[in-house]
Amino acid sequence: MQEFPLPIYDGDRTFLGKKDLVISFYAQRCQFECSFCNLPEASHDEPLSVEQIERQIDWVFDKYANNLDKFRQLSVGNEGSILDRQRFPKDAMEYLLQNASEKLPYLEVLSLETRPEYINREKIIETLQMTNAKKIDVTVGFESQDDYIREVILKKNMKKNIFEKKVKLLGELGIRLTSYVLLKPSPTMSEEDGIEEAKATIEYLYKICQKYNTEIIIYLNPVYVAKGSALAKEFALHKYKPPKIESVLKVIAQTRDLNNIPIYTGLWSENNAETYGDYTYTPNFKLKIKEGIKQFNKTQDFTSLSHFLN
Ligand code: SF4
Repeated sequence: MQEFPLPIYDGDRTFLGKKDLVISFYAQRCQFECSFCNLPEASHDEPLSVEQIERQIDWVFDKYANNLDKFRQLSVGNEGSILDRQRFPKDAMEYLLQNASEKLPYLEVLSLETRPEYINREKIIETLQMTNAKKIDVTVGFESQDDYIREVILKKNMKKNIFEKKVKLLGELGIRLTSYVLLKPSPTMSEEDGIEEAKATIEYLYKICQKYNTEIIIYLNPVYVAKGSALAKEFALHKYKPPKIESVLKVIAQTRDLNNIPIYTGLWSENNAETYGDYTYTPNFKLKIKEGIKQFNKTQDFTSLSHFLN
């Protein structure tokens, strides 16, 4: 009989050509209240002990024991901020990275999902000392360059000046940034406005990262209506239509001139969406384009997509 919580999610994927072991640990819930997000509901209302987290780590490495030598990337989060030491203590991180060093012999990239508040020089240096990965990535939900959308509509509570200081720090330390970008995040946005806003956010991220010499990957998320979220009511009120899969394609195509900036698209709403609430419910949804984008996620070879533009 199992007496410890399991991770909220575990799975494998190919992320930009690398086999990636993805884990979202069960931990104390994220204290932020972004209006579009219902992820905190899956977490615990109290802190978990280090031991409760370590048992989850053991469980995942046991589950994937026969395939561990295939993984080149390890992506970890806790539906919030894995660098928040209150929710994921340093001892648990040490245990995780010790296990990764012993059990993932070909690990190249360690990816940590966190809010920018928890990124600091000391923690990054500690992490560099603990990991055998050649590269560290931090994945941040910046979402939108538009201050009104990000701060008022999405309630991200993420100021640009603080974010940019962290991008600078990452550049200084040689750490890669992956940033979430939302496609069509506002309930009143037209499809075209959604495309333009996602492009503007990608351009902003590209410029900031160029300025500070920080490697960047874009993680594009076509918005889905998250069940029970504060924004779901607004979406319903405005009869919001989720973005079309063609719009994902347009954003990728129209940002190719930014030095072929790598773009990975999140194509799954993981049963978090209202029934009408993701791109698969749009009229004339084209599965072939989704399949082409899935392929592009693996290879970044645009020829898998370009013929859809004709
Ligand atoms: S988007 Fe991230 S920071 Fe905001 S509530 Fe969700 S998990 Fe927390």
